[in-house]
Amino acid sequence: MPIPTYSTRCTGHRQIAHDVYEFTLAKPDGFSFQAGQFVMFQVPLIDNSSDVQGRAFSIASAPSESQLLFVAKIKQGGRAGRWISEMLKEGDDVTFQGPLGNFTLAGQGEEKLLFLATCSGIAPLRSHLVETLHQGDARPMDLMFCVRKEEDLFWTKELAAIAKGHPNVHIHVSLSQPSSSWKGRTGHVQDVAEQVINDLPERSVYVCGGPEMVKAAKEKALSEWNIPKERVHSEDYV
Ligand SMILES: Cc1cc2nc3c(=O)[nH]c(=O)nc-3n(C[C@H](O)[C@H](O)[C@H](O)COP(=O)(O)OP(=O)(O)OC[C@H]3O[C@@H](n4cnc5c(N)ncnc54)[C@H](O)[C@@H]3O)c2cc1C
Repeated sequence: MPIPTYSTRCTGHRQIAHDVYEFTLAKPDGFSFQAGQFVMFQVPLIDNSSDVQGRAFSIASAPSESQLLFVAKIKQGGRAGRWISEMLKEGDDVTFQGPLGNFTLAGQGEEKLLFLATCSGIAPLRSHLVETLHQGDARPMDLMFCVRKEEDLFWTKELAAIAKGHPNVHIHVSLSQPSSSWKGRTGHVQDVAEQVINDLPERSVYVCGGPEMVKAAKEKALSEWNIPKERVHSEDYV
């Protein structure tokens, strides 16, 4: 079956950290998705708008939220990077195909959740977090969110606000290359998980970020935390 195409409008666009942008789109009529899925934007070349290619972006908002939210880590010189940082603005028309992907919550038999994200890999995990809480899910959930430096941090207050009032939810932010003045946690997501979570083998793990981090975290989950492969889920941002 062909993947449906939707046209909609950009309703907000701002830089939120070094090389990181968030943008929102009006939810097109008839578009529905599950938390964790992504869409494929039709991205024009900045110098030639008739040259268009697809680029995948996870939906960071939950199905229960009114708009579609996205977060993009800009790769300098990249097609999507230039489109988002130099071209896209509020009011623009945007076309995408979707929803796509299987990075959805498996559900039954997954009693305790562990979300591991680096940088824009937070997108589908924010969607999961908001949606599970919207549905009244009281399972223990820990979200590890790592970026390199202070200047790369974003959404920390927003994530804390989502977790507020939910004793089953804990957010753990870390930097892998902090400055000497950083007082918070340090280290990669999988290492922070080992410091913080004392029931790792009982968790179902959802990992999202760059391919190296995803590989390292999955290896730990499978071979050191002894989590069966059916409970280790991942999305690579290639
Ligand atoms: C399922 C999925 C979901 C994803 N979701 C997200 C998400 O939510 N947020 C997110 O940030 N990313 C996400 N990604 C990654 C995203 O799709 C793009 O791969 C990423 O944004 C880079 O695309 P680009 O068009 O900017 O780079 P490309 O044009 O594809 O370039 C690839 C690389 O080549 C380099 N390059 C290209 N042209 C030049 C040039 N002229 N000069 C110098 N260097 C150059 C770029 O810097 C980049 O490193 C997702 C990927 C997948 C597969």
